[in-house]
Amino acid sequence: DPLQDSDLRNLAELGMGNGGSVMKVEHVPTGIIMAKKIVLIDAKPSVRKQILRELHIMHSCSSPYIVSSFGAYLAEPNICICMEFMNKGSFESVYKSLGGKNSRGDATPGPIPLGIVRQVAKRVLGGLVYLYEEMGVLHRDIKPSNILLNSQGQVKLCDFGVSGELENSVAKTFVGTSVYMSPERIQGSDYSVKSDVWSLGITLIELAHGCFPFSDTEVDFDDDETNGPGRMNGEMSLDSASLTPASAIPSAHHTRRKSRGVSLHGGVGTLSILELMHHIVREPPPLLITPLIPHSMEFAKPVTEGGAGVGQETAEEARVFVEKCLMKDPAERLSPRELLGTGWMRDGSANREAREGELDLRTWAGALP
Ligand code: ATP
Ligand code: MG
Repeated sequence: DPLQDSDLRNLAELGMGNGGSVMKVEHVPTGIIMAKKIVLIDAKPSVRKQILRELHIMHSCSSPYIVSSFGAYLAEPNICICMEFMNKGSFESVYKSLGGKNSRGDATPGPIPLGIVRQVAKRVLGGLVYLYEEMGVLHRDIKPSNILLNSQGQVKLCDFGVSGELENSVAKTFVGTSVYMSPERIQGSDYSVKSDVWSLGITLIELAHGCFPFSDTEVDFDDDETNGPGRMNGEMSLDSASLTPASAIPSAHHTRRKSRGVSLHGGVGTLSILELMHHIVREPPPLLITPLIPHSMEFAKPVTEGGAGVGQETAEEARVFVEKCLMKDPAERLSPRELLGTGWMRDGSANREAREGELDLRTWAGALP
């Protein structure tokens, strides 16, 4: 039977993005819990039908690294896309609450252990290889909020670019602009699988640092004060005055919930989305900073926090991996397949002890609130 709105019962709101919102729903006839994405579109009926046809590709996706789809339908003026519900949410929400609660009781961001980030990276690459090699599509929107987790420890990609028409018709102010965009894409060159790899590199740094990487605030792993004044939370203030109304601020990804308004320049100044784009194109790419462990403790340290005690070799492999994701020239940047063959992704390589001590994703995910 085709999916229809009247069969779905709203349970909770899961989140709001630029293009719409996502609800947790129950499909009453079957009792299946789903995530329903509601996208407000601005398109003619013929284009709407085209979008639905394109979204149908999602239906034929079958990969452990891709969120499965139950179908899409029109509910004027919206398009609704029903997908598998991932009960631990996105990696954006995961890391943004890893720092515990502050004195006001708000969740604060914190770094995800490197051993976990490694396993996430492997699965995202698996998803990219599947989309590219089996489905012939690029993801186009890799970022922490589009990488989902469930309590079985499964990691799956959502919101990939199956529908060019949908992309064109989403009623948002700043179409296709994201702070995860590669230098070549900012400069208007062709999009390739290498552009997805750049976005993955930025995403991995964000998860491992517990903050968005384009900042001049230092990453401090020993800091117990999770909400100290210099702590970045991956959000930035934008100087609205420096932008034209047409390039309205709200859709620059990190500005949506800028309640804490940490500026990119550590409080000294603010960086507009345009300045950030210039920065990405002109400046060296960001680096992964891994916690330093005294050499003598390399293997001795018990791995109590999901691979927090990774050895130096693993940390070095991780830095090299991220560097290969963030080569500014896409020709030098590795492809997802090539990245899967690098040291950091191999289970039995250099740091066997560190690898074996790694918490598995299921245990880690299960322990999350
Ligand atoms: P943007 O609009 O900039 O892409 P976004 O990815 O956060 O940002 P949405 O795609 O609308 O926006 O998603 C909103 C939130 O809904 C996500 O951050 C995620 O936490 C949650 N979400 C999306 N899909 C699912 C799902 N299948 N299962 C559980 N939660 C989901
Ligand atoms: Mg999304």
